[in-house]
Amino acid sequence: MKSTSSRGVTLHREDPGFDQAVLATSFNSRDPGHRPKVLVQVNDVFDVIAAVKRAAREHLKVSICSGGHSWAQNHIREGGMLIDASRLQGVEIDAANKRAIVGPGCGGSMLVGALKKYGLFFPAGHCKGVCLGGYLLQGGFGWNSRALGMACESVIGLDVVMADGSLVHASEEENADIYWAARGAGPGFFGVVMRFHLKLHDCPRFIGNVTHVYRMSHLEDVFRWTDAVGASVPNTVEFQLIMSRKALAIGEPGIEVHATVMADSRKAAKADVAFLLDCPLRAKSGLASPLFPAPLKIMYDLVMTHYPNGMRWGVDNMWTNASVDHLMPGLLKVAATLPPAPSHMLWLNWSPPPSRPSMAYSLEAKTYIALYGEWKHEADDPLYADWAADRVREWDPWSVGIQLADENLGQRSAPFAAQPNMTRLDQIRSTRDPGGRFQSWMGRS
Ligand SMILES: Cc1cc2nc3c(=O)[nH]c(=O)nc-3n(C[C@H](O)[C@H](O)[C@H](O)COP(=O)(O)OP(=O)(O)OC[C@H]3O[C@@H](n4cnc5c(N)ncnc54)[C@H](O)[C@@H]3O)c2cc1C
Repeated sequence: MKSTSSRGVTLHREDPGFDQAVLATSFNSRDPGHRPKVLVQVNDVFDVIAAVKRAAREHLKVSICSGGHSWAQNHIREGGMLIDASRLQGVEIDAANKRAIVGPGCGGSMLVGALKKYGLFFPAGHCKGVCLGGYLLQGGFGWNSRALGMACESVIGLDVVMADGSLVHASEEENADIYWAARGAGPGFFGVVMRFHLKLHDCPRFIGNVTHVYRMSHLEDVFRWTDAVGASVPNTVEFQLIMSRKALAIGEPGIEVHATVMADSRKAAKADVAFLLDCPLRAKSGLASPLFPAPLKIMYDLVMTHYPNGMRWGVDNMWTNASVDHLMPGLLKVAATLPPAPSHMLWLNWSPPPSRPSMAYSLEAKTYIALYGEWKHEADDPLYADWAADRVREWDPWSVGIQLADENLGQRSAPFAAQPNMTRLDQIRSTRDPGGRFQSWMGRS
């Protein structure tokens, strides 16, 4: 029976609207076929503590969602309790000290928008709708993350409801094991995050973009050149390629080459993107833009054209240090088998820094490749649902693991942390949640 506390709402399977309420939590429009036994829509810490204590009494496993942007719909499991934290959207900004405290249901783009008037910035994710809850726990590659670090490196503390219903603060000084795990455990985190305490950054003075677009016939040239210049691209530049059957401006199969730059001045930005402005392939491009100012509002709109709402998704990814020669047969196969646009392949020049702070997030490589299959109708599931996982599987010999941002662990298992970090993460998990109250990564018991 549906019950409403002073604030939170609890729905059970037999309640009218239960199915819709569960499915409405998910960005991916596919119905995973599973249902929790109970859905608790929480509004504050009291609701969360009550929910976790109830789950313990009734022996229910707990899953959690904030923005519901897990492609794999990690939070919708069979049985158990789903805690919907999307209403926890609070934002408190301490501009003088460049600090913020945010709820997990706050969208990254909302935070960036709120910070603008203070001249402050946070490396939020590239799409509207992605919420800080899942984004920060899995690492978070956001705007200017090559320069500012993974977003979780700007988390200085968090408040978490643990398996026994206690509310704890975790930071470098307090419950340091939870703090270590929270920066990279992603969908395997073992508590409900109520608030993140964040370090903020100064707004870049100039944000700009250069875009080239090439027809698919130039695929080999484009990827060879990209791979050759990748390591020398300044960390102020997000350099990425998007391959689809309907590339920007040319409207036919092709490759968009984007360099988004965040710098102190237009002049500095121009120097940083000179590698693309002067690209030797330029004469072959269907479009070659100059460096143009691109405020984040424009960039969000541009990126969102690849990630529309109301779609069904099958997504997978890999980290690779392989040479472009080794990857080329797979790239050609991706091009030949791409589902209709806006499905696409993303090639991201990652070239990570030599070191990062010690935390669960610990696996990366020279290049990040992610495949996003997207389609509208259930009848097309057999055509497209396995495309991404199948293509990545064929690259297996060249993969060193995956990024949890685009995980598909329920369909294809792969490492997502360096081995010593994974061992430590498992140890912390079993100490802090000895009864396994919280769901683990998909594909694991
Ligand atoms: C359109 C789109 C664009 C994206 N762009 C980027 C990008 O630019 N950079 C990037 O790094 N990633 C990106 N992602 C991946 C995204 O960051 C992850 O899917 C992230 O988990 C989404 O967070 P969420 O809160 O919206 O999702 P949810 O589905 O709500 O959360 C994912 C998982 O995180 C855990 N979780 C969520 N909230 C809590 C909480 N309060 N307490 C404890 N555990 C919790 C749960 O296990 C949950 O299943 C994108 C995803 C999509 C769909």
